[in-house]
Amino acid sequence: MTRQVPLFINGEFVTSGSSNKLPVTNPANQQLLAEVPMATEAEVEAAIASASEAFKTWRNVPVAERGRLMMRYVALLKEHHDELGELLSQDTGKTFEDAKGDVWRGIEVVEQAANIGANMMGETVENVANGIDTYSYIQPIGVCAGITPFNFPAMIPLWMYPLAIAAGNTFVLKPSEQDPLTPVRLVELFIEAGAPKGVLNMVHGGADVVNQILTHKDIQAISFVGSSRVGDHIYRTGTDAGKRVQCMMGAKNHMVVMPDADRNATLNALVGASVGAAGQRCMAISVAVFVGESKEWIGDLSERMATARPGAWNDAGASYGPIISRPAYEKVLGLIQKGKDEGATCLLDGSNCVVDGLPDGNWVGPTLFTDVTTEMAIYNEEIFGPVLCCITVDTLEEAIELINNCPYGNGTSIFTNSGGAARKYQHEILVGQVGINIPIPVPLPFFSFTGWRGSFRGDLHAYGKQAVRFYTETKTITARWTHSEATTSKQPNMSINLR
Ligand code: NAD
Repeated sequence: MTRQVPLFINGEFVTSGSSNKLPVTNPANQQLLAEVPMATEAEVEAAIASASEAFKTWRNVPVAERGRLMMRYVALLKEHHDELGELLSQDTGKTFEDAKGDVWRGIEVVEQAANIGANMMGETVENVANGIDTYSYIQPIGVCAGITPFNFPAMIPLWMYPLAIAAGNTFVLKPSEQDPLTPVRLVELFIEAGAPKGVLNMVHGGADVVNQILTHKDIQAISFVGSSRVGDHIYRTGTDAGKRVQCMMGAKNHMVVMPDADRNATLNALVGASVGAAGQRCMAISVAVFVGESKEWIGDLSERMATARPGAWNDAGASYGPIISRPAYEKVLGLIQKGKDEGATCLLDGSNCVVDGLPDGNWVGPTLFTDVTTEMAIYNEEIFGPVLCCITVDTLEEAIELINNCPYGNGTSIFTNSGGAARKYQHEILVGQVGINIPIPVPLPFFSFTGWRGSFRGDLHAYGKQAVRFYTETKTITARWTHSEATTSKQPNMSINLR
């Protein structure tokens, strides 16, 4: 019998009563791994009710205890790192090393959550007026929800619920319906770590389930990671319903190649950053901007890209895996064709890619375009495949103007040996995460993940101190305490000024 992906409600794994199910397949061979239900309205309601009830007691658990739960969780995640990596590989097609990296980047966030006390500190000012002190506390806000994408099924759920829960909230997770098996295992390990009933709940589904969460009266805050189309809807609907919402969304990331850069390091970085994970990373480099004479390196780049090849998760020689689904694969192939039709030069075409022994996989080979213009669909649309577009410009100023005119602002990088060029770039570029001789500058969790402009909606970003602020409220207390009768005024104080 086909494995049924369970929901997790009120401390129990339950089989959904929904007849509306989707297949979960291995994208390397289309093997059916499981069926995932689209949870019913009543099941989503039960998950939120459980989280609401659990909040009443969880908010009072001492902060150090909440941190210790995360320490135990970190230990279990590390113990099961390889097992999680293997499961994630089958669900997504990622290579084993890449899948383990996905898990590891999540574990690093849980390590931050274990240290929650240090991030829950308020402020104090003694004697704001005679005998009066003002101080603030950071308090949890209630039930938070997370809606996550397919491309990092361990890391991105772990960006959300550990910090929210460590901060004293309870949580409802709605992972991607495309690869829900890793999130189920993450929840199992969280229970093993000792998470009390109701603190974390998990439902599966698509737009209907998400819309129910977005408008539910008992949900206070929503974290979303996914495409810009869905993120725009989530931000509008959630904020209209009075929720706090943060949306980390789509991207088109540029790497600037200066002629004074280290050629070998730059081209190798460009290959890895564009085709790694089959280009299915929100921080993947999808546009290379060659400044001045560095355009002479494009032929060399093409030769290096041609050596990258997709393959099965346990093929140690494979550079990356398949595209997540048939529709996503068709979209990538359609955009490659469109690039050719619109007049770009396809130096390397991965459209007819085959992998020995896996004829049914969603394989796309490394694909490289030159003569790309900003009017073309391959420049404007997020391809989310192993496709790199090259643009040539004469100066760094032109490169900066080009990138600042792109609506997205997730990540970017510059490769150069000039400190002056790097400093000008980091100062003037309107992108939230900048790498200098680093192709994919994802900040570690003591910072936050700070995409800008079309790649983000909201005020406070994912993980780090900003996420703790997102999942908490500040309460400011002004207090007057008197020591003895002698210092207490016998007169009623009619003043409204704290003097
Ligand atoms: P997606 O937007 O299709 O799905 C994301 C989540 O939204 C899923 O849980 C899905 O079930 C839900 N969803 C889908 N359609 C919906 C609708 N109409 N209404 C409400 N909810 C809906 O994204 P994806 O294809 O899973 O992931 C890839 C996208 O995520 C890319 O655009 C990528 O750039 C982006 N991403 C962004 C970041 C970031 O931090 N900025 C990180 C990873 C991925």
